[in-house]
Amino acid sequence: MTGDRQREYLAALGIPLWLPRRPLAVHPQPADPSLSPAPERLDARAEAPNPPAAPSFAKMQSARDQPQPMARGDAEDFESLPPDDWTPPTTDDYWEPVFETAADDAATPPAARREARIARMDWEELAAEARQCTACGLCATRTQAVFGVGNHEADWLVIGEAPGADEDRLGEPFVGRAGKLLNPMLLAIGLKREQVYIANILKCRPPENRDPAPAEASLCRPFLERQIELIRPRIILAVGRIAAQNLLDTDTQIGKLRGRVHRFGSAQIPLVATYHPAYLLRSPREKRKVWDDLRLARRASAILGEPVRRPADS
Ligand code: SF4
Repeated sequence: MTGDRQREYLAALGIPLWLPRRPLAVHPQPADPSLSPAPERLDARAEAPNPPAAPSFAKMQSARDQPQPMARGDAEDFESLPPDDWTPPTTDDYWEPVFETAADDAATPPAARREARIARMDWEELAAEARQCTACGLCATRTQAVFGVGNHEADWLVIGEAPGADEDRLGEPFVGRAGKLLNPMLLAIGLKREQVYIANILKCRPPENRDPAPAEASLCRPFLERQIELIRPRIILAVGRIAAQNLLDTDTQIGKLRGRVHRFGSAQIPLVATYHPAYLLRSPREKRKVWDDLRLARRASAILGEPVRRPADS
């Protein structure tokens, strides 16, 4: 198997590959004729008609378990010890971990490399990456990227659609007239805005508040996936049709998605979909349904949400 092929397999298995930073310094050893056969001896062995059979595993094991007499060369080996001023190399001198993942492998397509790179970022790196992201055309029309806001250790993650004009101007999600309605919705179930984390499917505002294009949502998805991974919330509240359909990868109408508990991702995080506050401004009579959804989410968070594992807990 070639080195490249091996690295591909190891990367696919998530096994870090350790490569020497520089060639190992080999301490010179005295020549031992019995270990370094002269070429003529090799020739002689090759010509031997019946080479001795290899010892069986049982024999090798039994020999290994016997007390071994000191070999003739052991005493001489002391003479090959390094000089007094020689200091043993540390692991850092010789080795450095090379985590060869899709992010590093030049053979991986650029989009997959970007996803793998984002999947390893911490909060600071992630926010900086989003601020300077130019992966889709929305970077040309945004005032700024709206990364997300709130408690990084929140039990509740609220996910909306995309920044509107106010959000684009202020750099924070759910701060416009409709967005502000989210605050009393959360308070109704005993949650202050700062207790939850709020993010959007898209980090940049689509012009004229149009629906996100599938390609834009897909290119922006790694940011949200990493936010979810970092928060590990007990419950996701998908606010509005766009958020619910994107997160659940469906085109089912929001009216049919709300009212039940879904699961998101490989972590199977409970997810409840509900109407967007902007819809409630137009259809205030639907507030009752949102109230039902919020109570359902609260129950799902308490009963189904995995206990949140933080580094401090381990
Ligand atoms: S919407 Fe997302 S993918 Fe597009 S430029 Fe903004 S941050 Fe990047």
